[in-house]
Amino acid sequence: MLVLEDVNVYYGAIHALKGISLEVNQGEIVTLIGSNGAGKSTSLKTISGLLRPKDGKVMFKGADLASIAPQTIVAQGISQVPEGRRVFANMTVIENLELGAYLRKDKSGIKEDMKRVYELFPRLLERKNQLSGTLSGGEQQMLAMGRALMSKPQLLLLDEPSMGLAPILVKQIFSIIKEINASGTTILLVEQNAHMALSIANRAYVLETGKIVLSGDAKQLAASEEVRKAYLGG
Ligand code: ATP
Repeated sequence: MLVLEDVNVYYGAIHALKGISLEVNQGEIVTLIGSNGAGKSTSLKTISGLLRPKDGKVMFKGADLASIAPQTIVAQGISQVPEGRRVFANMTVIENLELGAYLRKDKSGIKEDMKRVYELFPRLLERKNQLSGTLSGGEQQMLAMGRALMSKPQLLLLDEPSMGLAPILVKQIFSIIKEINASGTTILLVEQNAHMALSIANRAYVLETGKIVLSGDAKQLAASEEVRKAYLGG
């Protein structure tokens, strides 16, 4: 479904992604793990078109995304939940969700998906008229995920959904990620919480200073000495 081939991304003189190749197949949960500054967010931004590779290929369902505008990439079926949520603080929960469906015209479909988002996140329904800036961190994460789902993505990109959340909430968010995947959405998950990410993913890639150093079946990686030492606290 998604293929990155030998992708190089720079910030000025900084070589942030050094020949990244990876793929995500339809129906999978794939996770990209690695420590601070490894290039995880940069990878997601390159897929969603917010950053452009200097060379290499980013292909989605056989089409090259290189020269496609970010909003067109959303229309083609990729939606990103950014690091730090980035909800529109001065707008209500409903307004944020409606913005997620901005590019859609199928009114009845939008209504159905709004209902589904409220089923996944009952807390958002309770708070639908609240200004988003006053939501708790966990609620803002739910809203950011709900907003991304409102574009009806085939591929959902999640950037560190566990960041700053209490363990019980992290568990809840990860179980909802599994539920979203089970209902047909393919997921590429970026996480520093390697333990949780590997526990729900089918496959994983380990990124270190802009390069993929390990990849494979998530359960096998979680059991490997190398990953346990470096990313799972021994
Ligand atoms: P974290 O988990 O800390 O968010 P990450 O793996 O997502 O890390 P990136 O944010 O992708 O890492 O950053 C990769 C590298 O690119 C880092 O060395 C970072 O300092 C650099 N970088 C990121 N954004 C910029 C920018 N706007 N300008 C210059 N360098 C940047």
